[in-house]
Amino acid sequence: MDAQKPAWDNLDYKAAMEAPEAAGVLERLGRLIACPTVSSHEPGGADQAVFAHFREDLLPSLYPLIHRHLRREQVGDTGLLYLWKGRSSDQPIVLMSHYDVVPVDAATWTHPPFGGEIHDGQLWGRGSLDTKVTLCAVLEAVESGLAAGFEPENDLYLSFAGDEEVIGLTAPAIVDLLASRGIRPALVLDEGGAVLSGAFPGVPGRVAMIGVAEKGMIDLELTAPGGGGHASVPPRHTAVGRLAQAVVRAERKHMRRAYPRTVRDMLATLAPQVPASMRILLRLLRLTGPVGAWLLGRLNPQLGAMTRTTFAFTRLSGSPQANVLPSEASAVVNVRIRQGDSIDRVLRHLKRAVRDPGISFRILQGNEPSPETAIDSPAYRKVLDATSRIWPDAIALPYLMVACTDSRHFCRISDYVLRFSAMEITADQLASIHNADERISTDAVLQRVALYKELGLGL
Ligand SMILES: [Zn+2]
Repeated sequence: MDAQKPAWDNLDYKAAMEAPEAAGVLERLGRLIACPTVSSHEPGGADQAVFAHFREDLLPSLYPLIHRHLRREQVGDTGLLYLWKGRSSDQPIVLMSHYDVVPVDAATWTHPPFGGEIHDGQLWGRGSLDTKVTLCAVLEAVESGLAAGFEPENDLYLSFAGDEEVIGLTAPAIVDLLASRGIRPALVLDEGGAVLSGAFPGVPGRVAMIGVAEKGMIDLELTAPGGGGHASVPPRHTAVGRLAQAVVRAERKHMRRAYPRTVRDMLATLAPQVPASMRILLRLLRLTGPVGAWLLGRLNPQLGAMTRTTFAFTRLSGSPQANVLPSEASAVVNVRIRQGDSIDRVLRHLKRAVRDPGISFRILQGNEPSPETAIDSPAYRKVLDATSRIWPDAIALPYLMVACTDSRHFCRISDYVLRFSAMEITADQLASIHNADERISTDAVLQRVALYKELGLGL
């Protein structure tokens, strides 16, 4: 085998992945799923022994070459950072994943959530989609590259966190470490968009959604003051009433819609590849600014959410007892901030919308919208080319993620952060993420591995 070239260049992934190798990949993913690395928002809530077993026993036993040849360091409580030295350190690449999962209610599952069993061509279990498949695919690609005697062109980092689902500190700590070493990645690739059918109204065939940016997100607490006291002699408005009015006003007044650059790029990329009637509609949508953005939202709420900062009130609290007046009442709103808006603008907008100077605002946590990776960059082209080799007939599109990933932290040290889960996924499977019956098609597992191999592990 030519050690200079990626072993998997230009090969059809199914033909290339012989049956015994595919069975091995699925078996190993099953074993990763069977180790219940459930993270928890409660301090001490996660079973650290399980996490340690996953890192110290399971990974080295499933991927022996990686653990023999790559440098590995633990960062913080759960972070793992591997380095596969390449011929050059000029254009380092980071492949990311997280290995923690959200809790399950086992009684509602058809097959055991930590069984890692295959039924009807699907691998079942918590983390099968989100996102032990990513971890597995990265490790499989590297392990087989090592077995083939491949040496990457550029330094390759594998960055794995065990606290992504609880917005933990691992990913930022890994970024701090890389920054302290002066490392500026030429590509960072994390979980993200998938390959979908019927994602766009009127667009037949498959669409590969490559996330080039993600919205910002804050949890914001609104609090209304109240005097307390006995509920038998109430004031005209209690803190709860005052807060309720603020919530209704905030929900009624939306922030302005606009197209982030990514959404314009998405529509422009889509236009030449759709029937003529759709093309005219897409051009109209793109050229009509906020009105087009509004119409896009009517056609598809998911697309609409890319053009507007959204507010979702998710929590309310008042008095601890029914016959006691609240001394204060508070609500939490989860805000997803589109590119072009900012935390500061959100606060100013909400204060104006609520029209009550007595309501106080407190940011519980959050971050600004991410920068947008340019689609004419070598990093994007590289992922695009690998994608079109696996799905020659799919339309690959840049898109704006409305959910958060750990990769946002890497924007501090790289202009080339992408979020793409290269796999075909059905609407039912999509709905199983963070839900009962999470499962992935066995084909999709092999597609994930194929993408990392197609990337050739180097730019
Ligand atoms: Zn995830």
